[in-house]
Amino acid sequence: MNKNKKMSLATKILLALAIGIAFGLIANGFFSATINEGLNKWVLSPLGDIFLRAIKMLVVPLVLCSLITGVASIGDIKKLGRVGIRTIIYYTLTTAFAITLALGVANIIKPGMGTGLTLSQAKNTVEAAKAPFIMDVFVNMVPTNPIEAMVKGDMLQIIVFALIFGICITLIGEKVKPLLDIIIQVNEVLLKMIGVIMLVAPIGVFALISKVIMLQGTAVLLPLLNYLLTVALGLVLQGVVVYGLALRFLGRLNPIKFYKKFWPVMLVAFSTSSSNATIPVNLETCEEKLGAPKSISSFTIPLGATINMDGTAVMQGVAAIFIAQLVGVDLTMNQMLMVILTATLASIGTAGVPGAGVVMLSMVLQQVGLPLEGVALVLSVDRIVDMLRTTVNITGDAVATMIMSNLEKELNLSVYNGNSKELNNEVVA
Ligand code: ASP
Repeated sequence: MNKNKKMSLATKILLALAIGIAFGLIANGFFSATINEGLNKWVLSPLGDIFLRAIKMLVVPLVLCSLITGVASIGDIKKLGRVGIRTIIYYTLTTAFAITLALGVANIIKPGMGTGLTLSQAKNTVEAAKAPFIMDVFVNMVPTNPIEAMVKGDMLQIIVFALIFGICITLIGEKVKPLLDIIIQVNEVLLKMIGVIMLVAPIGVFALISKVIMLQGTAVLLPLLNYLLTVALGLVLQGVVVYGLALRFLGRLNPIKFYKKFWPVMLVAFSTSSSNATIPVNLETCEEKLGAPKSISSFTIPLGATINMDGTAVMQGVAAIFIAQLVGVDLTMNQMLMVILTATLASIGTAGVPGAGVVMLSMVLQQVGLPLEGVALVLSVDRIVDMLRTTVNITGDAVATMIMSNLEKELNLSVYNGNSKELNNEVVA
């Protein structure tokens, strides 16, 4: 009992993940289909969905309140512009870098060579996602009705509304201070709600992960194991090596301290496969445990969850090469550049929800003339790949937050470098 009390929440989530995987494997291997169906319908799906819905419930109000308070606390519109532009440039460059890295890894490992797979094994037919007209993207960022934007959970529109709202609070000043105080307090309550909901995260994570493994099993992974492992290698390189170096050399921060405090957020992303659903815990961890100022994290995290998808970009790069190798096409240098360009755009356009990235892959394939059946083929392992790439997607947002905060000299270094365990308990308590 005592021992249990001392176990941090993060450790409990990790344990739940391990037990969930083990349970899923046992159920898949030994239980009958009827039992698994019942387990899924009556226990795992409801439990997993309750957890998912509870954290998603906080996304819109939290992004709104935290961005308004964040912007209002900057007080300097020039600074807001500087952070905004730097962040967007950083997001785009790291994404292009991630795809280049993926192309390099896939060209060395050659996951599509000698697999014995053919594209006719793809079961579904696929229609290409259309690239949106770039001006439409900008126009649509401005909501005509902010309530509708919140109802739909349109993150870019919510960000634009909250930014202007926050700026205007600053412009008016003293007169609307009570309103700002209320929003700050609502934000506090929402942060507390995350802490409370996260208490049941071990149950939610267990249910989500065992459901995936139970229904999917490992047999489905085997034919595409080469592809899966190549993506995983690309993701590890991006998620640990590239981000570690970025933290060290761009942010002048100790990467180990970052990962020590950040890994519970990675577990939430892994088990939910959703950058959007991870926004609340990501915000809370960046601010409370890693010392980022709300004025920066409230902007970089939701924006990153919407447009910065380095993990998705890695998957798209590897998948393009994999599919090209399956059909025996050697991509020229020009085509590779085209993959970098379109996959950067495709990953920016990918929504932070499960399975979105693989749909956008069709855009990349079409651009370089590869068969769209390739999407259907990689789809069979995409649930697992999605969990991995989402983990990298949200890590990229947090790393950017740390770097931007430190560049602005606003990162609270004593919190960043402080003892993670104490802080963990503090937030949860
Ligand atoms: N699931 C990913 C995310 O939420 C998007 C994707 O499918 O690549 O970040």
